[in-house]
Amino acid sequence: VSAVEIAQKALDAIEASQPRHHSFTFVDREGALRVAKSVDQRRAAGEDLGPLAGVPVAVKDVLCTQDMPTTCSSEMLRDFRPPYDATVVERLRRADAVIVGKTNMDEFAMGASTETSAFGITRNPWDTDRTPGGSSGGAAAAVAAGTVPLSLGTDTGGSIRQPSAFCGVTGLKPTYGRVSRYGLVAFASSLDQVGPIAWSADECALLLYTIAGFEPRDSTSLDQPVPDYAAATKSKDLRGLKIGLLRESLDAEGISHSVRAAVRDAIKVLADLGAEIIDVELPHREYWVPTYYVIAPSEASSNLSRYDGAHYGHRASEGVTDLLSMYCRSRAEGFGDEVKRRIMVGTYALSEGYADEYYNKALKVRRLIRGDYDAAFSQVDLLLGPVTPTPAFKLGEKVDDPIQMYLCDLFTVGANLAGVPAISLPGGFDEQGLPVGIQLQGPPLEEGRLLFVASAF
Ligand code: GLN
Repeated sequence: VSAVEIAQKALDAIEASQPRHHSFTFVDREGALRVAKSVDQRRAAGEDLGPLAGVPVAVKDVLCTQDMPTTCSSEMLRDFRPPYDATVVERLRRADAVIVGKTNMDEFAMGASTETSAFGITRNPWDTDRTPGGSSGGAAAAVAAGTVPLSLGTDTGGSIRQPSAFCGVTGLKPTYGRVSRYGLVAFASSLDQVGPIAWSADECALLLYTIAGFEPRDSTSLDQPVPDYAAATKSKDLRGLKIGLLRESLDAEGISHSVRAAVRDAIKVLADLGAEIIDVELPHREYWVPTYYVIAPSEASSNLSRYDGAHYGHRASEGVTDLLSMYCRSRAEGFGDEVKRRIMVGTYALSEGYADEYYNKALKVRRLIRGDYDAAFSQVDLLLGPVTPTPAFKLGEKVDDPIQMYLCDLFTVGANLAGVPAISLPGGFDEQGLPVGIQLQGPPLEEGRLLFVASAF
């Protein structure tokens, strides 16, 4: 089949799914067909093509794309067209991928249900009364609905892994610094990472290989070689591998029976393949969520100060009498409630007199959390545990209760605070037929190990 036919199929599938699921904020029909056509022409001319030649890929709407809007699902950036591509987008193009459009998300990636998008919710393809998770809900739903085989998400506190778990697909948050953040609209810069979402670990391996690697325009980019992740997914022999079971998390309050069962099943599969299972604790786990919800909003309040109505995005026209009122009105009109909540929390945590009590204390606890991971990885090769306390919850169930929404991140924010890679993979279904995920976390730069073990399932 030709790349044009494949692109056409993806575009038709998107058109059919969009009214039901609304995974996309923008579909680039012409652009996708143009790129696909040029792939076909170059193939016919015998030219060498990139590893993703003709493969349709969707990109979360927080990554800059020169030829498409980049809205972060916010009124603030409704009309924003970046003058440049994010590094990961550039690399997709260089690999001859066909970028079909931008996917819906929680506004500025703040949320766990894609319900804070200014452009409407996304529905979970497995049960359209339920959320696909968030913030990369559109990216995960697009893959789950079968519209595209690959998508790019971002993960600051779980936003690749949680929606992947809710949508029954595979998603990987790489090591902090593994993938360039250049052109990623910043939420919390010390936590943000871009990563792949796909059906299987093998496909994630291919997409990660395309986007990973050193890049001088991101000062946190790691100058380390990129292994051939796809080769890592070929073996199924886990003998000699030590897997740390986060047993404590299975006893956590509010964790559903199906999630516990999925982790138990995973233990059995891994043990059958020869892995040794050892109980491991991350002692400061109970501080993960509070620490994250001081650090992430603090960094967000600073990053989002750039949206002042003058430099980027929405500028208020009514009720503006002077510069200050222009700033205030523009931000009042451009940002949604959750974004405003984060800015207020973050500004408070950073302000003089409170910073020692909140922000600086959170940084200290973060060091302890990192230490827990170091200690764990001196004993075991990987950590196994849940991704989320429950499978996908109902739309509307938590959207008015921020604390309940924040508790969705109970098992995912640790990897971001420590900077380690983590993958969410399908772990079966609950009694209602909803997918349940399981999580593997690894030492820094051991994405290959995560993918290898994930593909053995
Ligand atoms: N749910 C978390 C939050 O709201 C994580 C978001 C993310 O990873 N972008 O901050």
